[in-house]
Amino acid sequence: MNGEPEVHEEFETRLKAYEGRPAAATGVGRDPVNAPMIRHWCEAMGDTNPAYTGPGAIAPPTMLQAWTMAGLSRRPERTAAYDELLGLLDESGHHAVVATDCEQEYARPLRPGDEITFDSVIESVSERKTTKLGPGYFVTTRTDVSAGGELAGTHRFRILKYAPARRPTNPTNPTKPEERRPRPVVNRDNAGFWEGVARHALLIQRCTGCGTLRFPWLPGCNSCGRPGWDTVEASGEGTVYSYVVMHHPPFPAFEPPYAVGLIELAEGVRIISNVVGVPYDKVRVGMPVRLCFRQYDDELVLPVFQGVTR
Ligand code: ZN
Repeated sequence: MNGEPEVHEEFETRLKAYEGRPAAATGVGRDPVNAPMIRHWCEAMGDTNPAYTGPGAIAPPTMLQAWTMAGLSRRPERTAAYDELLGLLDESGHHAVVATDCEQEYARPLRPGDEITFDSVIESVSERKTTKLGPGYFVTTRTDVSAGGELAGTHRFRILKYAPARRPTNPTNPTKPEERRPRPVVNRDNAGFWEGVARHALLIQRCTGCGTLRFPWLPGCNSCGRPGWDTVEASGEGTVYSYVVMHHPPFPAFEPPYAVGLIELAEGVRIISNVVGVPYDKVRVGMPVRLCFRQYDDELVLPVFQGVTR
């Protein structure tokens, strides 16, 4: 169907009727929880937490979804209900799709040998929302992952089915698309960081269990595994640990060439941001830099680093 997407109460009632219906047939994990997969995961993630190795090891909680994956040779068995729901959205003009986020909750640890079963339901279909991509509906599916019949964790996956908006135009030059930097993705794990940035403070997370500083922000400590944290404000002093100069490809709102640095802060953690205030070809490993905050448009402030040439 072409033209304006259909939108009325009756349509939303039809969508809502899919809430609570199965999104996929009950699944069985292809493999029981096992040490080799845990080892590969930890190597890929660079996670050396001792809880995941040796006798009594548990699986990293964030592996939850991995145990439910169908693999390359098999398709997940989507229900007719879920296909119908997506079909209704397609037919009403909301044919584009983007995955927006996922959330996990953990009920109990998984251990090698645990046999996995999982059930997916269509948990919710939002009202019609206006988004920068275009108007659409958020569809959340919830997968409950069980081991031995006991709930081990829940994985929520959210998509936006939308009718693509025409690209915004630049008011000063209608033939040129508006060029704005991408917005940061703010979630409950990193919201504190962005609140700090808004008041021009660069906050580093500190584990209240062992005092280890961490950046970027994470829900737990990679040293001791405990979740508690507070923050310390970075002094703003740092050095260029490594850098690249971007020439290609061009991105809207970025004018190549420009330098992107991996900055080692005086506190010891590293952060990626632009090195500004010096020509891109003068940036060097070891160059001292100083934190500053740059306002890119009416709503976007980012921490960047002013290079200090000797
Ligand atoms: Zn710690």
